Amino acid sequence: MNKNSQISGGDWQDFERRHVWHPYASMQTPAQMFAVQRAEGVRLHLEDGQTLIDGMSSWWCAIHGYNVPRLNAAVAAQMEKMSHVMFGGLTHEPAARLASRLLEIAPEGMQHVFFADSGSVSVEVAIKMALQYWQAQGKGNKNRLLTIRHGYHGDTFGAMAVCDPVNGMHQLFSGVLAEHIFADAPSAQSDADWNESQIADFREKIEMHKAELAAVILEPIVQGAGGMRMYAPEFLRQVRALCDEHDVLLILDEIATGFGRTGRMFACEYAGVAPDIMCVGKALTGGYMSLAAVLTSAMVSQGLHADGGVLMHGPTFMANPLACAVSLASIDLLLDSPWQSRIKKIEAQLSLELEPCRALPGVADVRVLGAIGVVEMHQPVDMVRVQPMLVERGVWLRPFGKLIYTMPPFVIDNKDLGIIIKVMNEISSTLPKDYT
Ligand code: PMP
Repeated sequence: MNKNSQISGGDWQDFERRHVWHPYASMQTPAQMFAVQRAEGVRLHLEDGQTLIDGMSSWWCAIHGYNVPRLNAAVAAQMEKMSHVMFGGLTHEPAARLASRLLEIAPEGMQHVFFADSGSVSVEVAIKMALQYWQAQGKGNKNRLLTIRHGYHGDTFGAMAVCDPVNGMHQLFSGVLAEHIFADAPSAQSDADWNESQIADFREKIEMHKAELAAVILEPIVQGAGGMRMYAPEFLRQVRALCDEHDVLLILDEIATGFGRTGRMFACEYAGVAPDIMCVGKALTGGYMSLAAVLTSAMVSQGLHADGGVLMHGPTFMANPLACAVSLASIDLLLDSPWQSRIKKIEAQLSLELEPCRALPGVADVRVLGAIGVVEMHQPVDMVRVQPMLVERGVWLRPFGKLIYTMPPFVIDNKDLGIIIKVMNEISSTLPKDYT
């Protein structure tokens, strides 16, 4: 046995630091990690005895908080029957019931569901569907995608290729990533700020490239990991119209925005538009495990099979029964809760109490929509210094780039949210001295 790989005594954290990779991290100079022993409600309990109020919902998925009795029960009940069976040639009730619930709450026109294992994979599948759709129509030359800058769709190769070309990983993998077309993102944050120049670049690009475009892919209304930018619903309305006019499919990535986060069940409802293909993930399982889904209109699925072909994708853990069962329970828990009024209250508190940040010298912008509160600084946030400061103050926030933001569980009360916001104010006010 490799001695190096043993955990000596109880010190698993030392072993972990030396051997286990973390997201976007170096094994050479590992960053400080905070070990979580258990989590309950909106609180993370650390191994060292400290308790943190969670302002991140574990990268936006734990919308009901942690250790939720109804979700625990759903997993336990399903586990008694089966944890997993392959989905090739076999099927099961949890998949059927979840698909049915998803189609009930989805935008109009969604008819078919493909279960994938993560958000990124669902984006790969959505892209594949769009390409196969046009191949089956005898238009295999329609094989490129159009998107807008500042987007984020995942870390796999197909998904990376439609992430923001500057902030994303294009440079690192240039020559390997597919080359797609990028239009300017709108700067108008609401329809009140809208003017036609906001769509000009997008219009020009779709008109110029329509013969080679399979699909447009967008995060509706809120661009998440590419910069937490909110944009006017009118942009999405016009994108839908332009896609129809120029025979281009519309893929909406609701992975971050779906299941109530923005105040609507799906963010595309703000624009009153429905996609041809839609990706959901993250909060789908209430944060219990990894599952995503791709929903399509009948036009897409029928068109894709027009040449007698089949969709060429089939992950091992497709439609995992545990994940399907907990997803159904999570959606039902959401629907049984006063989620709209909860999000409205969170939105109102974020708007009111983050407002003072705007006056701070280091702050460039403050943005709020639904249960999303963002403070954008002028300078990048020094994570090595700021992360422990946040933890010392008893909250779990994970800033990135120039952004200090919160996307708390929907069940957070105003007292705990008030503490998160107070810490965001405090940290924002300390930054200009050191970083500007
Ligand atoms: N699309 C969007 C909009 C996302 O926010 C994310 C994750 N941050 C993804 C895709 C990728 O999902 P996953 O991390 O589950 O692969």
